[in-house]
Amino acid sequence: MDRHARRLDAARRAVADAGADALVCGPGRTLRYLTGVDESPSERLFLLFVSTSRDPAFVVPELAVEGLDSAPVDDVRTWGDDAGPDAALDGLLDDIDPDSLLVGDRLWATVLLDLQSRLPAATFDPAGPVVASLRRRKDGAERDALRRAAEAADAAMRDVRELDAVGRTEADLASYVTDRLAAHGGEGVAFDPIVAAGPNGADPHHAGGDREIRPGDPVVLDFGTRVEGYVSDQTRTVVFDGDPPEGFERVHDVVREAQAAGIEAVEPGATTDDVDAAARAVVEDAGYGEAFVHRTGHGVGLDVHEEPYVVAGDGTRLEPGMAFSVEPGVYLPGRFGVRIEDVVLVTEDGCERLNRTDCGWRG
Ligand code: ZN
Ligand code: ZN
Repeated sequence: MDRHARRLDAARRAVADAGADALVCGPGRTLRYLTGVDESPSERLFLLFVSTSRDPAFVVPELAVEGLDSAPVDDVRTWGDDAGPDAALDGLLDDIDPDSLLVGDRLWATVLLDLQSRLPAATFDPAGPVVASLRRRKDGAERDALRRAAEAADAAMRDVRELDAVGRTEADLASYVTDRLAAHGGEGVAFDPIVAAGPNGADPHHAGGDREIRPGDPVVLDFGTRVEGYVSDQTRTVVFDGDPPEGFERVHDVVREAQAAGIEAVEPGATTDDVDAAARAVVEDAGYGEAFVHRTGHGVGLDVHEEPYVVAGDGTRLEPGMAFSVEPGVYLPGRFGVRIEDVVLVTEDGCERLNRTDCGWRG
């Protein structure tokens, strides 16, 4: 069976298990996951319905039909700009006749409001939990794409370490990173690269600005790319030249040890809470608990942030095929920040580390 047919079939069963009649989503990552169709959201109505009583169906603009080649969906209801989508959509809703719908998290509010007015007696709930239950366990093709995306990021990080970065600006280094990701087979950037030098590193989401990198500056470098839509996301904290500030080496050792402890805790049957606790305990024992201001990690896939989230209270039991980051950090305002991040894949008996470059701070 084609992988998209398999995913649509799994989605139909998950919708039934959730006690709903149909799942509806618009253009976005879930549509791409289920059908392979990579369509951008627009004002023209474009919907996929996965119902428990019928085969999956599209309501799409005539102009979009050519983009549906990868989708194993035979029931395609098209509409033209002259007539508008009403007849196509009402015809399908009559056929499905749903009492309860699960709605994609990123469906436009205007579309949801329109569906609610067409189906006044139906209930609408978020599709998020059903979608996450499907997407969080990666299949063979997805694992392979994640590995290749991680390899491209690793290769770019090796290039960065070779660079004489002192005197360059953060923004200049960010554009160098972008070029190297593409040179190593990446499809663009998964998010704007973070290059944060000196005190800027104490802001976990600092974007590369016009600060010049000075000797002794710890530089937080956090970037990723995509391969077949699947992301990489890794971080190293590097001192390119000169002596780091007082206290930096100790903090870097703590974060590195915390990251290793987090990865050590990854195995089937453990929970995301266990991984968070393992990393956080090292930081807390060293007296920096207050300075570790974010969760330990997040799932990766077609989205840079997706389930499961590695944080106390998430409670996801790890299963083979789950992929997520382990990225503890310590942030000391006015001084510097340290973060180390790798993506790991849960395997049958432990975990596979997808990023493999040196974690040390010397550039
Ligand atoms: Zn990152
Ligand atoms: Zn991350």
